[in-house]
Amino acid sequence: MLGAWLLLWGGLAAGADPALLRRADDGAGRCTYSFTVASPSEASCPEAGGALRAELAALAARLSLLESREPGATVAESPRACGELRRAAARLEEDKGRLEREKEELRRRLESSARELARLRAGCPPRGDGPLRDALHGSGQASRWDPQTVDYQELKSARMEVPASRLLQETAQGRAGAEDSAGCGELVWVGEPVVFGQADSIAGKYGVWMKDPEPVPPFTRATTWRVDTVGTEVRQLFQYDDAEQFSKGYPAKVHILPRALESTGAVVYRGGLYFQQRRSRLLAKYDLRGEAIVAEKEIPGAGYHGQYPYSWGGYTDIDLAVDETGLWVIYSTEKAKGAIVLSKLDPETLEIQRSWETNIRKQSVANAFVICGVLYTISSYTVPNATVNFSYDTATGTSRPLSIPFQNRYQYLSMVDYNPAERQLFAWDSFHMVAYPVRLARA
Ligand code: CA
Repeated sequence: MLGAWLLLWGGLAAGADPALLRRADDGAGRCTYSFTVASPSEASCPEAGGALRAELAALAARLSLLESREPGATVAESPRACGELRRAAARLEEDKGRLEREKEELRRRLESSARELARLRAGCPPRGDGPLRDALHGSGQASRWDPQTVDYQELKSARMEVPASRLLQETAQGRAGAEDSAGCGELVWVGEPVVFGQADSIAGKYGVWMKDPEPVPPFTRATTWRVDTVGTEVRQLFQYDDAEQFSKGYPAKVHILPRALESTGAVVYRGGLYFQQRRSRLLAKYDLRGEAIVAEKEIPGAGYHGQYPYSWGGYTDIDLAVDETGLWVIYSTEKAKGAIVLSKLDPETLEIQRSWETNIRKQSVANAFVICGVLYTISSYTVPNATVNFSYDTATGTSRPLSIPFQNRYQYLSMVDYNPAERQLFAWDSFHMVAYPVRLARA
């Protein structure tokens, strides 16, 4: 009976990607059944997943049931068995389809994992540790390391998805720029965005990701922080110990903030998370080690909850920033009639130390950040080829138009912050956590 059954199965499988069922005697009077699906590589076989094993166990159980019902009968001898076999064949046909779909899904996941692995490997130094990592993260040490080896260029090229030849040119330019700007300088160039993380649910369509430029132990320069800001009760702060954890999206710890946070304007600085509390002009400092709010202060007259957001909206009324000189807050007031006001804050008490009122209308720009005491704005959160379009220098109290290319690769830019230690702009662009290298030059 089983021979005929196998023929049936063979017929069903004919013309499709071969999926085989075999029977064998195990030598102890028992039958064993094995089911084989063609697979591009061994690694794609679902050894790690239980779904296929469960399907095979179910098939074996059905075969066993059929044999026990009609001992010794053949399809020709038993019309009842024939009907049952036809029904079983139909069910197996469905099973086969499902298994093929699972196989395809596993193949897709394998390819995705392989790409992820390649990307992670590209982020690790082939040997040694310091110079390459520093170069990839754009620290000041990068300029002391010669990045001309082909291996490095290929790795960095794969990571950034741009041709190596172009990178060689950009690296040479970047190195010259870094030498010009051992300290502060004005922004002259923004590179292409590099993806460091990706959100896998709607909660991460927009948010804020950060690294502390002046970390306090036990945290380090590698510790990475993330808040998904979709929703009304945003309280979860994800902590990642390193870039790999961040890239995989598996946090080492989830902090639950005592107060709900609003917008994408938060920063991490000197061991504290600074953020605007929901539906208020209150700023808070959350101590990351002590896991408690340690300072709170209202920004007098600051618009909030949609009064003076950036053009992106999202209640981005109050935006914190960190540069080489300390902690800043970017906002507007009724008195300033919607123009950007920039205030320097005491990081311990959150007291305003000094304020500057610019002539840049806050709602006309997509976002802003501060480098070396100069405020910069971005023209659009959605146009692919946007620009850094204005600067305001707190040293002179003057603003001027700029036209530095800035790429919105995923066309939904919800957050931009400068990190003075990494010398990069951190940004969140439609589920993607990206960073842009920058070049500063002396005026
Ligand atoms: Ca910002």
